[in-house]
Amino acid sequence: MLRILIVEDEPSYREALAVALGAEGFAVETAATGREGVRQFQAAHPDIVLLDLMLPELSGLDVLRSIRRESDVPVIVVSAKDSESDVVSALELGADDYLRKPYSIRELVARIRVSSRRSQAGDTDEDEPLVFGDAVLDPGTYEVRIGAVAIDLPRKEFALLRQLMERGGRIVARETLLDSVWGIHWTDSKTLDQHVRRLRRKFEAADGAPEIVTVRGVGYRLTHPGR
Ligand code: CA
Repeated sequence: MLRILIVEDEPSYREALAVALGAEGFAVETAATGREGVRQFQAAHPDIVLLDLMLPELSGLDVLRSIRRESDVPVIVVSAKDSESDVVSALELGADDYLRKPYSIRELVARIRVSSRRSQAGDTDEDEPLVFGDAVLDPGTYEVRIGAVAIDLPRKEFALLRQLMERGGRIVARETLLDSVWGIHWTDSKTLDQHVRRLRRKFEAADGAPEIVTVRGVGYRLTHPGR
């Protein structure tokens, strides 16, 4: 049974989540403040953490920093609207995923499953082919296939897709994509959006290709088609 720690200060929210995730078959622990979150994390060693960013005592970012000092446990951060800079900081500090309130339990459960599968799979070998649904990207041969169909990608589009596939279905921050594909001295962030558009066009023509979803103000993620 997957054990999840919910760190959320709003009582009605916290309790509703605990009941809903319990009904989905998770073992649920809860914490109402940042400080309690750190304590509970150390005591309970959960398999996954759902972390609100706006918390009393210690902020969600402080809790995340503290967790990352000792553990690679998947952490899904939750934010209210208007705190997107915090979300980017959280992703840079090693959060695995991000949900904006209000979100559905169905969406949350899907993200939990993605994050936990990802952590169980462990780190992949540098040159191992990456797989996402029907898409296979082989860093060794520079080949991309959707099912049996080969897709020819220029170097930057290939690098961009590789970053997204390495993160599975999780969000990759714009800054991370720009730094890793164009180098840390990139100047025009619009080039990222242009490359995403080109990739999308190629994927739209290929049956079963992943979709590249824009996470406004934050970055991009892959999803399976039709979801
Ligand atoms: Ca809160």
